[in-house]
Amino acid sequence: MAQTAMSPLSILLAYGDIPSETTLARSGIALIEQLQARGFEVVRARSADDGESAIRADPLIGAVIVDADIDPSGGAETVLRAFRARNDRAPAFLFGERSHIPEIPLSTLKLANEFIWLVEDTPSFIAGRIEAAIQRYRENLLPPMFSAMLAQANVRDYAFGTPGHLGGTAFLKTPVSKVFFEYFGENMLRSDLSIGMAAVGSLLDHSGPIGESERFAARVFGAHRSYTTTNGTSGSNRTIFMASLTQNDIALCDRNCHKSIEHGLVMTGAIPVYLVPHRNRYGIIGPIYPEDLQPETVRARADANPLTTSANRLKPRHTIITNSTYDGLIYNVERVIEIGGDVIDRLHFDEAWYAYARFNPLYRGRHAMFGDPAEYTDGPTLFATHSTHKLLAALSQASFIHIRDGRDPIEHARFNESFMMHASTSPFYPIIASNEISAAMMEGASGVALTTEAIREAVSFRQTVGLIKRQYAQADQWFFSTWNATEITDPASGQRLAFEDAPEALLVTDPDCWVLHPDDAWHGFDGLEDGYCMLDPIKVTVVAPGVAGDGQLEQRGIPASIIAAYLVRHGFEYEKVQDFTILFLFSIGMTKAKWGTLLTTLIKFKEDYDANIKLEVILPGLVTAYPERYGTMGLRDLSDEMFDQYKQSGQMHHLQQAFSTLPSQEMIPAEAYRRLVRNQVERVRLDEVAHRTVATSIVPYPPGIPMMMPGESAGPADGPCIGYLKALRDWDRRFPGFTHETHGIEVRGGEHYLQCLKQPTQFERD
Ligand SMILES: *Cc1c(COP(=O)(O)O)cnc(C)c1O
Repeated sequence: MAQTAMSPLSILLAYGDIPSETTLARSGIALIEQLQARGFEVVRARSADDGESAIRADPLIGAVIVDADIDPSGGAETVLRAFRARNDRAPAFLFGERSHIPEIPLSTLKLANEFIWLVEDTPSFIAGRIEAAIQRYRENLLPPMFSAMLAQANVRDYAFGTPGHLGGTAFLKTPVSKVFFEYFGENMLRSDLSIGMAAVGSLLDHSGPIGESERFAARVFGAHRSYTTTNGTSGSNRTIFMASLTQNDIALCDRNCHKSIEHGLVMTGAIPVYLVPHRNRYGIIGPIYPEDLQPETVRARADANPLTTSANRLKPRHTIITNSTYDGLIYNVERVIEIGGDVIDRLHFDEAWYAYARFNPLYRGRHAMFGDPAEYTDGPTLFATHSTHKLLAALSQASFIHIRDGRDPIEHARFNESFMMHASTSPFYPIIASNEISAAMMEGASGVALTTEAIREAVSFRQTVGLIKRQYAQADQWFFSTWNATEITDPASGQRLAFEDAPEALLVTDPDCWVLHPDDAWHGFDGLEDGYCMLDPIKVTVVAPGVAGDGQLEQRGIPASIIAAYLVRHGFEYEKVQDFTILFLFSIGMTKAKWGTLLTTLIKFKEDYDANIKLEVILPGLVTAYPERYGTMGLRDLSDEMFDQYKQSGQMHHLQQAFSTLPSQEMIPAEAYRRLVRNQVERVRLDEVAHRTVATSIVPYPPGIPMMMPGESAGPADGPCIGYLKALRDWDRRFPGFTHETHGIEVRGGEHYLQCLKQPTQFERD
């Protein structure tokens, strides 16, 4: 049976000292019985504190009934506030004696929907009112498309069209497909509807409940228009590129960009002019500096670019910036707009990892859909793309495009041509529904509550690491640190406080604690204008010893690869590991138990490292795979050898060079791709690749950012690109089991190969 009835909500009943054997107590008990008979679970709390904890602990409490006299010190308001912090519109009731109403503060009354008279009305009448209020709330709870989908699944039409599994029934015909059916369950299969299902609407023409769902998302995310997409933000970025750019248009591109931007360039034939972000001593990718966005600089770069001579006009048609960066650096968007001035008419922020930004005041002004959409009229046309499956709760492939119309707009009818080109005519409806649910979760108070919790956990983790490091330091011992300010200014007293001593509430709410101030040394991005860039607290970078303040390697160090291997062995997933840093995301699902265990594992690593415990004990899988190489080594031995490799190879220096100097652009990515399709390419050994033009992008992971784009020259043999690739190769040869992954590099028998264009590489213009 398709389960479409909603599971019962819990109701919290919070009351103070009510003597038993009184009318009030008897009425209360009768009410509980009535509610239970109607299928509700009633959770009782015997004090305001208890009520507050119950609300914190159980997000499924969907209604509260609070004793106005729960305690003399305003306890009723405490409980109601705790409830309202997550639920703006869910029903909340106060009860008490009629004579007490005048004594209840207005601030308390405002938080409740209704007052109930427990003694004067019958329990069944009251329970009926409560049930009706919950019913009304629930009817409005579900967003448009999902509620239409539930209704549809309930209709149980006999389907004769597609999908051919016909609501799952085809899977019942063989043993193998029955397993599939049973695993995923009837609901998912029944929701896999045909595009012809008018009752749910159409994704391609944005009609019916799906269209309503997109309008709902626009309201929640602060856009003028929103589009649900089902090919990830990869598809969303390509859709925007195809709608905004065509042959010979200039695209101003963050070099710190996702693969889908390369694809957008290939498909459109646009000419990329790159914005190169800075990197700090740890190799963390920072922002594009303000001076690089100034109109004079942009015009000069476009003018100097060897490929732009045939461009329509020396002005970018489209600008794309990654916000936040992988490491959590976020821009002051209003400043970006201001600095870019008239050179930026269309501004596209790839916010794949940042869909939650609008829902917490900490990020105010630092995301594409900032402020009030109704007041946004004369800026550039803004685009934001969100992978709702990455940091909100949606299914894989769910993504949103949000648009604010401004200068040089692309109105819906034109935009939709590109949208359809990148969509399937048979989208998977559960993906669309999950996108909408991820928006509904963030609407109103619950968005603030969920994001605040994630920020609080991240702050708590960072402060705890700081305190532990301080204790170890007192005993002259090393420990990890987190990448954030070491000191902050308390706005109340004007005093400087060590980060770990700062009040948690301040760190959770004051953006100034996270801004990259020009005089602070911790971030390593010198000369940045104050307030322009901020670190997002939920992207937590753990730093291992090894890199000194000036970027030189220290006497001793612990490369992050070995720590990462240790963490994996202990069941942790991290987001990214790079040289001496490991990135962890504190997303909405983070709990104290999870980060607490991470912390104890880091402590355990330190102890095992200090004791140089044998690798066969710590990483048995590694030793089994490479007994000769690692059989006799201890944890510290291997770490020392890796650190030594860093010192010898200058790998971090090469990285710095490779990503801060742009290779020479021999041709646009589209032209390189054209030749690849025509098979004018050959595989070339890394040692012989000097001055060859690469046919594909070369993207080392981490950080997963293109080092070379298709059509660019690998440069001289001793140049930055080849230098870095050789350093990676040498590492891989020395440390089997710790090899790097580089898209665009093929490893065969220990040799590294790149796809290059056949000579001559001269750019032939069509
Ligand atoms: C992951 C990612 C994308 C692509 O998103 P998908 O939803 O996986 O297709 C685009 N841009 C950036 C910066 C990303 O990290």
